[in-house]
Amino acid sequence: MRIVVLDGFTLNPGDLTWKSLEELGECTIYDRTAPEDTVQRADGAEIVLTNKTVLSSDIIERLAELRYIGVLATGYNVVDAEAARKRCIPVTNVPTYGTDSVAQMVFAHLLNLTQNVAHHAQTVSNGRWCSAPDFCYWDTPLVELRGMTMGIIGFGRIGQATARLALAFGMKVIAYDPDTSGVPAQMSEVCEMVELEDVFRLADVISLHCPLTPQTENLVNERHLALMKKTAFLINTSRGPLVDEQALAEALNNERIAGAGLDVLSEEPPGENTPLLKARNCYITPHIAWATHAARQRLLQVVVDNVASFLAGKPRNVVNGVPARREQLDR
Ligand code: NAD
Repeated sequence: MRIVVLDGFTLNPGDLTWKSLEELGECTIYDRTAPEDTVQRADGAEIVLTNKTVLSSDIIERLAELRYIGVLATGYNVVDAEAARKRCIPVTNVPTYGTDSVAQMVFAHLLNLTQNVAHHAQTVSNGRWCSAPDFCYWDTPLVELRGMTMGIIGFGRIGQATARLALAFGMKVIAYDPDTSGVPAQMSEVCEMVELEDVFRLADVISLHCPLTPQTENLVNERHLALMKKTAFLINTSRGPLVDEQALAEALNNERIAGAGLDVLSEEPPGENTPLLKARNCYITPHIAWATHAARQRLLQVVVDNVASFLAGKPRNVVNGVPARREQLDR
């Protein structure tokens, strides 16, 4: 069985092992694949794994031996899953692996906004404390979270994990989600479900945890930003296009809101003119919330288990409705 990984580098830059995947077949692992090289590299492989390399219907059509596509992520929009379905090729994903890591990143950003540890440590490294007139100094307002209101938009797995951390910090939690059927009773006892606009009006910290859909695109827009408290922070670890970036940059630069912590942008990597890169009190990390060692380890394990299940004739985590069929293996 020939297995090709088109872009394995971000999942495993060298601190994990591909050994268990290699035990399942003859593996070729590329760090990255340019669009024009995809067909030639995947040609002849029965199993193709991709993270962000696009597998369009045209590419899928040209790969005669292809029997299985595994996505090394949760989102699988890089694959034309319908084109694969027409050829009875299952497309699988990794539904969850990084919930706690992403929730932790929310607080990495939030604590950065409230205490600015890296900045203050840098001033000490630069020698400023040694020559200070007082026993302490600070450059930015220091903010205590206890008693503040955390507003969560999208109260699924990561939203609820973020709520648990917020409660541990003594924050009050309010949340908006159009579908509350998945919210456990213990969670609704300690968090208040409110309308979307109330999150913008009442929260001291807003954290986005909804998926990107036509309904959520530009959810954080000029109108909603105008409802926010002047002292409020916005955290986005979900998807860049949830935010109207020009409107957020203006709200930050005009001191309409206090600050933002973002792990995602609408274009990744961003163009040099992205308005948020230079916005006031805006801290951006390069889409790393998912990438703790523990989360990547879990992700890789699920990827391998997905391939093994397919080879055993019982594919799991299939996103395009292709059922298990013996002839997929025997073809
Ligand atoms: P989930 O499916 O468990 O939760 C998403 C929630 O959003 C659901 O409860 C859903 O009802 C709700 N929702 C849907 N439409 C909404 C709307 N219009 N307004 C408000 N809420 C709405 O997903 P999850 O595992 O919690 O992941 C949340 C998001 O986090 C993902 O969609 C993904 O974009 C992002 N993510 C980012 C990283 C990263 O590295 N930065 C890693 C993993 C996931």
